[in-house]
This record gives sequence, structure tokens and C-alpha cells, in this order.
Amino acid sequence: MSTLGKLVDKAALEADAGGRVRARVTVPLSWSQQRVLIEVTLPRAMECARCDGGGCDGCDRSGALRGPKKDLERVVRVRLPKMLGDGVAMRLSEPFGKGAVITQLWLEVRPGDAASPSVRRIGGGERKRILPTMVWAMTVLVIVVGAALAALTWATGGFRR
Ligand SMILES: [Zn+2]
Repeated sequence: MSTLGKLVDKAALEADAGGRVRARVTVPLSWSQQRVLIEVTLPRAMECARCDGGGCDGCDRSGALRGPKKDLERVVRVRLPKMLGDGVAMRLSEPFGKGAVITQLWLEVRPGDAASPSVRRIGGGERKRILPTMVWAMTVLVIVVGAALAALTWATGGFRR
């Protein structure tokens, strides 16, 4: 909850007069570490983010707002942040295009055992870029350890002389 609270920018939220909805999804923690690109199919009816579903003028007291009819038009793509913590809230402007009733989507992403059924993983994330960095880091480590051992051997040898 702490991360969520920090990321919700109240000023930015208030500035937009359009419809705001909230959606929650779960992804495996490893996806986040790999910064995987995900595709989320949002439900037709989404919780109103202005009143948290309690009912307000923005949602005609229903607590919910409706997205486009077609499933394909309710699909959004986001790249997962590397640090998920207890969960993060990502703000998407005009998730259903310009002119739609809903102008903001607050997508809450939490770590879990498995991905929500509405979530689809696209590609393999940034693993290809991470791997050479790790190999490089290990090479440096080997050199450092090697140098330390050489220095130690030299020092020990010096004592014996
Ligand atoms: Zn509302």
C-alpha cells in the first residue's frame, strides 16, 4: 500500500475533468524484474476512480464507467516497472483514444503468484540487455579477485623472505 500511496499524484488527478477509472491486475514478480511488456484487456465496466465505486457526479452515482463495447478496444499496453514493491499505480491518459468518456486509467499492478486472466505477456522483456551486463560484471569480479589473490600471494611471499 505504501508504494501505491506515494505514486498517486492528487494534483494531476484533479486537473482532468474527464472520466477516471481504476483497474487492478496481478503479475508474477519475475515479470516486473524483467520489465516485461504486458497487454491488459480491461473489463467493460470499470470502477470510478473519483469515488472509488461509491458513486459521484462523474459516474452518475453508479460507481462505475463503461469502456468501449469491443474487447479489442479495451486493450492497453504497459511496460512493467522494475520495482513493484507491494504494488504500483500507473496512470494512462486517454486509454481508449481521444474523445472517449474515460480520459484516465489508473492501472494498479501488484505482484502475485500468477498473472490475472486479463493480462497477457508480450515478448520476453529486456532480458537480452541485462545478460551482457551480468557477464561484464562477472568478468570485472574475476579480475578484481584475481588481482587480490596475486597481491596476497606477493605479500605473503614478502613476509617469508
Ligand atoms: Zn464516481
